[in-house]
Amino acid sequence: MPIKVPVCFSQTKKATMVINLSEQYSLLNDWVAEMRDVELQADRMRFRRNLERIGEVAALEISKRLPTTTREIQTPLGISSCIVLEEQPVLATILRAGLPLHQGLLNYFDKADNAFISAYRKHHRDGSFEISLDYISCPDLENRVVIVSDPMLATGSSLVKTIHYLREEGGPSHIHVVVAIACTVGIEYVQREEPHATIWCGAIDEELTAKGYIVPGLGDAGDLAYGTKVQM
Ligand code: URA
Repeated sequence: MPIKVPVCFSQTKKATMVINLSEQYSLLNDWVAEMRDVELQADRMRFRRNLERIGEVAALEISKRLPTTTREIQTPLGISSCIVLEEQPVLATILRAGLPLHQGLLNYFDKADNAFISAYRKHHRDGSFEISLDYISCPDLENRVVIVSDPMLATGSSLVKTIHYLREEGGPSHIHVVVAIACTVGIEYVQREEPHATIWCGAIDEELTAKGYIVPGLGDAGDLAYGTKVQM
């Protein structure tokens, strides 16, 4: 299925690609619609599975852009010349909301190494928040393709902070970002800070509230997947 690829240019004139996976209708649009639907959101298993399915579709689409090699495979009847992935990407996700999307990517890139980062919003009494980066578990990233998943690209601050960290840890050859819903402000921020990254979105919304929630969005993805938490 051809996917329209809008290419945006950052201030450095480097192409930053933003791919909206629901621009052309596929079943993915139905999954995004279900995730947004307040009537269905009580079904956490469906919510997580829909995130996972978006991760699976994104994995398939990203795989079309990864380096391949040809291998001669011995079948019971002969030899088949097969085009296969040269190297599995590293899958990185932001705890906790990123886990179902990450699982979807891992279902397809099933031999991938994984990185886990806890980047969360530390809320202040005045309603503002800062991004705190805590637990990090990360393999060697030197010259490897990294796919970072986070369901909601809102302000973009946790995503950018995470990517900066991953770049400093090792020199990845390319970074793909996979999100279920992105808002335009967040996309622009990632484009400014990470002009070489490729962003894959399940949908793009226009608005962001003062508290950093995407409108219409779907609400709090982490809470919908795993239950409400006590605000720290
Ligand atoms: N994180 C969420 O879970 N939802 C938003 O709308 C923004 C950030």
